[in-house]
Amino acid sequence: MQNRPTSAYIHIPFCTQICYYCDFSKVFIKNQPVDEYLKALMEEVRHYELPALKTLYIGGGTPSALSAEQLGYLLTNLGNELDFSQLEEFTIEANPGDLTADKIAVLKKSACNRISLGVQTFDNKMLKRIGRSHNESQIYETIDSLKAAGFHNISIDLIYALPGQTMDQVVDNVAKALALDIPHLSLYSLILENHTVFMNRQKRGRLYLPGEDVESEMFDYILSELEKHSFEHYEISNFTKPGFESRHNLMYWDNAEYYGLGAGASGYLNGMRYRNRGPIQHYLKSVREKGHSRLHEEYLTPNEQMEEEMFLGLRKKTGVSIARFEEKFGLSFQDRYGQIVQGLKEEGLLQQEGDRIRMTKKGLFLGDTVAERFILEE
Ligand code: SF4
Repeated sequence: MQNRPTSAYIHIPFCTQICYYCDFSKVFIKNQPVDEYLKALMEEVRHYELPALKTLYIGGGTPSALSAEQLGYLLTNLGNELDFSQLEEFTIEANPGDLTADKIAVLKKSACNRISLGVQTFDNKMLKRIGRSHNESQIYETIDSLKAAGFHNISIDLIYALPGQTMDQVVDNVAKALALDIPHLSLYSLILENHTVFMNRQKRGRLYLPGEDVESEMFDYILSELEKHSFEHYEISNFTKPGFESRHNLMYWDNAEYYGLGAGASGYLNGMRYRNRGPIQHYLKSVREKGHSRLHEEYLTPNEQMEEEMFLGLRKKTGVSIARFEEKFGLSFQDRYGQIVQGLKEEGLLQQEGDRIRMTKKGLFLGDTVAERFILEE
């Protein structure tokens, strides 16, 4: 029997605000059938008969948009349905300002041991400009309350290269992030996505983004400043103090399989990538009728699996192991990718150290555009 995945992602698609840059699967929470959704989620959990999990990640949307009762319902039922005896990491995403004392108490009673906060920036004006509803002081209050409750494995997300953002503002944001004294930081450059307020503004010529040279300067600054403060740059956008890497996210970059539950969630099971129905009513109906809500199901060819292995693996600082690749796919790495690797080495984007192929600093900045070179025309 095939080994079953030991990781699961659960999607909570509700938000109390809709941010101007966001293209995630989510809806405004008001008047949504949230209780019914949580019941359906539990049905879906039962349908898949999940084995003992090593990592569990509740993301969104905004899980902290749930009320304390709803959060309690979700976490208690997950605790009853799932085997947490092997659990290493259980993350929940939250927005600063959402985590009231009663919600933190609910988290504390559960198996959750890692909190990922959507800070984005400490700059109050910028927060408004990107459509967020929290402010700087709420960031500090939330982190203080979490620490007081005993949560120390805390991560924050920050976005840089925001509209109108200057290098000085990035310097200020990084300093404030470091002052929080938490062990993990994720920093993303703003990406314009279709069907967002920002993309509309861009199309009308009304969005002023920093140029690529400024963005690259910001990236360089972030890298050197965080390294100076003993953070390891272990993935394109992620930085950690020793031992606090996100195990769940490493599972994605290792190209492992996982269960994806909830409206609009993606999963990867038995060689099949799938995506669940997104609109809440469609999701509810599908779970009622079939126990799951998979819509797009795609079995990957060996070629696609190899591309993903490279595409995802190269995101990590440790890169891709040639021996592991050859063992997994039963062919010569040199025959398959030798030429591409050579070309990228000559451009200063990749380097080889023993058995491992990995990105240089320049390669990491360009990120996915380097990884895309491993997608071969058949
Ligand atoms: S960024 Fe997060 S909080 Fe904002 S709309 Fe998207 S999912 Fe919701």
